[in-house]
Amino acid sequence: MTKRASIASLIPASQDIYRKIVFEIADGIIGIDDHGIIRLCNPATESIFGWQSGELLDKPLEVLLPERVHGFHQRLVAGFQAGNTEARYMGQRSATIVGCRKDGTEINLGITILRTSAAGAPMMVAVIRDISDHVRYQNDLKRLAETDSLSGLLNRRAFRASVLQSVSANVAKFSSMAIFDLDGFKSVNDRFGHDAGDDVIVRFSEVLRTSIRATDVAGRWGGEEFVLFLPNLKANEAIAIVERIRANFTSVDFNWDGHLAANFTVSAGLAFAEPGFADFSDMIASADKALYDAKRGGRDKLVSIEMQQEALAS
Ligand code: GH3
Ligand code: MG
Ligand code: MG
Repeated sequence: MTKRASIASLIPASQDIYRKIVFEIADGIIGIDDHGIIRLCNPATESIFGWQSGELLDKPLEVLLPERVHGFHQRLVAGFQAGNTEARYMGQRSATIVGCRKDGTEINLGITILRTSAAGAPMMVAVIRDISDHVRYQNDLKRLAETDSLSGLLNRRAFRASVLQSVSANVAKFSSMAIFDLDGFKSVNDRFGHDAGDDVIVRFSEVLRTSIRATDVAGRWGGEEFVLFLPNLKANEAIAIVERIRANFTSVDFNWDGHLAANFTVSAGLAFAEPGFADFSDMIASADKALYDAKRGGRDKLVSIEMQQEALAS
């Protein structure tokens, strides 16, 4: 067979191959005209979005998107139509491409969009992959990496990141950083056992979590030390919250089998910055210094420090 003949024989076969690919592929393939109306749609698209065969044709693309992203999506498509790029992949790095199934549930999508034409008219084609499992798995991993498994609070690294995020997202007039350290905790382990010690850590974490506002950030700093960031509270308000946490914890009765009921105390150091926020490490260092003074002063107390203006300026 000559080379020319072999290519000629491939052309009809390749059309068949393309048709087969479009019909059998697990990725959705969907085409819209320049009014955003669905003109082409393979079975995988219908299955990804939970529609019956043929139902999506001639519907506006918006039926596949949550209402809150309609405006954003229209701008995205218009930008792509007007731009020079012929193909673009969206959704690999971020999970911001969200689709809506017929039953209203949302799914995460990886999408490649192509600009082409069909029968002389412009057409935008999207190749769509449902990456919801992948995104869920990524979120689970992220949560595991950020969470302390015993207390369920943020771990040290995630606490720092979360505080810095809170600071950059909100211009706070004041902020406070508190460090808590359970008193005489070594003797809890020694007298009641390590499981009892773990129980105390869990109960203190619950007190912490349930005593703060949604905008506050709580974390386990390590061992039996906990950290709390309180943005936008005056010094006396921050002190009141820390004192409430201390009082709530002290009133928890621990009743372990074979032991008399016990209560425990906690010491705290608080650094208050006005205006705004001092450097993260400086605030932690000041709170730690105040905590040290609380321990030295007899435990079961809070010591607070107002950070110096020089420290804030640095
Ligand atoms: P202080 O009043 O000065 O704080 O005395 P303390 O006994 O609490 O002293 P310290 O802070 O040195 O003791 C911390 C102890 O916490 C030592 C360590 O064995 C224990 N610990 C750290 N992490 C855990 C944990 O996850 N579970 C349990 N059960 N114990 C822990
Ligand atoms: Mg300690
Ligand atoms: Mg301690």
